[in-house]
Amino acid sequence: MNDDWVLVRFGELTIKGRNRGRFEDMMVRQVKRTLAAFPALTYQKTYGRLYIRLNGEDYNRIADRLKDVFGIVSFSRVLRCENDLQEIRAAALQVMREVDPAPRTFKVTVKRVWKPFPHDSQEMNHLVGAHVLRNTPELKVDVRKPDTELKVEIQPEGTYVYAGVQQAAGGFPLGMNGKAMLLLSGGIDSPVAGWMAMRKGLEVEAVHFHSYPFTSEQAKEKVVTLAQRLAYYAGSIKLHLVSFTDLQTKLAQTGHEHLIITLMRRSMLRITQKLAEQRGALAIVTGDSLGQVASQTLGSMHVIGRETTLPLLRPLVMMDKLEIIRIAEKIGTFETSILPYEDCCTLFVPKSPATNPNLRIVEKAEDQLGEELDRLVEQAVATVETIELTAESRSDAPAPAEERWF
Ligand code: ATP
Ligand code: MG
Repeated sequence: MNDDWVLVRFGELTIKGRNRGRFEDMMVRQVKRTLAAFPALTYQKTYGRLYIRLNGEDYNRIADRLKDVFGIVSFSRVLRCENDLQEIRAAALQVMREVDPAPRTFKVTVKRVWKPFPHDSQEMNHLVGAHVLRNTPELKVDVRKPDTELKVEIQPEGTYVYAGVQQAAGGFPLGMNGKAMLLLSGGIDSPVAGWMAMRKGLEVEAVHFHSYPFTSEQAKEKVVTLAQRLAYYAGSIKLHLVSFTDLQTKLAQTGHEHLIITLMRRSMLRITQKLAEQRGALAIVTGDSLGQVASQTLGSMHVIGRETTLPLLRPLVMMDKLEIIRIAEKIGTFETSILPYEDCCTLFVPKSPATNPNLRIVEKAEDQLGEELDRLVEQAVATVETIELTAESRSDAPAPAEERWF
């Protein structure tokens, strides 16, 4: 009897030793959590791989979920049969007949992992290939550039037969590499930075600065929607909403108009660092991309970054806007990001923001405010509004299942 399974391949081949066991345990937990809505599934774990038995569940719906699970490199729908030549041949034929669109050329690659099997890999290539050819007259063999590669793996527990590999998100299982605070604005970049950080195994808590009532309720809603989208990938996400109004007004009063963005960014980092300490996070993630705007020149990044002692992670720093937009579209944040609501920083954007701010002058401006600045930072931290967003609606997956990530 042929059995319908999904073969899931895990990522980061470089992980060795004890870390590997931890990685794989976390992966299995993530996959099970992601597929909790499919109770008939059963799981079998082997070294570096996970097999999921479908037991009648719909493969396409499962695939739609699996492609977004961090740490999965790729997966395949496989047929499993007994380690028996006739069974393997029958499974091979069934797999080939289900390839859509029907291929014109193919090649067979057999891997005999279970050595007691009576035919070696070479013999099996011929035995299986000849059977498929005999039963599918329009098909030809092409060993160099076949339309379809039919894979047969003879393992101790049975033989797996499949003809396609689907790419998934890759990276590390969520949370494996610790926790970071994500500076989440309503723009295109920071949600992408958040997704990339999560893909690298970071659990992320988002921090958003608003200047309500100068910024609107819709602007806040927009950020909630973006965080909700990130929750789709994370299972759930915390969003800390920080009132920046008083602090921003105070900074504007220092009279350093061209430095206002630098000053605001530094205060954002100060507040975020305090939140990070409270929340046990060891890094801050931003959507900065080198040279994109005045606050993202090297000079600005230097003066702004000096404010925090935590590692500042900037996943997009070397990427072009078009590359960033492509990912934003794939992860389903782009449409929300381009909605026209104002950001707290756009309220005070000067005509000519400093592209190379002077650290000494910036620090002097802050000193000018003295304890008042400390007080306002403390006040912002103390009045944070935290909401937790969960991925209730996992059915609205953003990207089509068959696409590669990059
Ligand atoms: P984005 O598209 O992410 O808003 P951007 O190109 O508009 O980026 P900036 O607005 O200069 O660039 O912001 C740079 C980074 O600073 C953002 O990616 C984000 O991480 C952080 N940031 C900016 N504004 C806010 C905000 N209101 N709340 C939280 N973080 C912010
Ligand atoms: Mg922005």
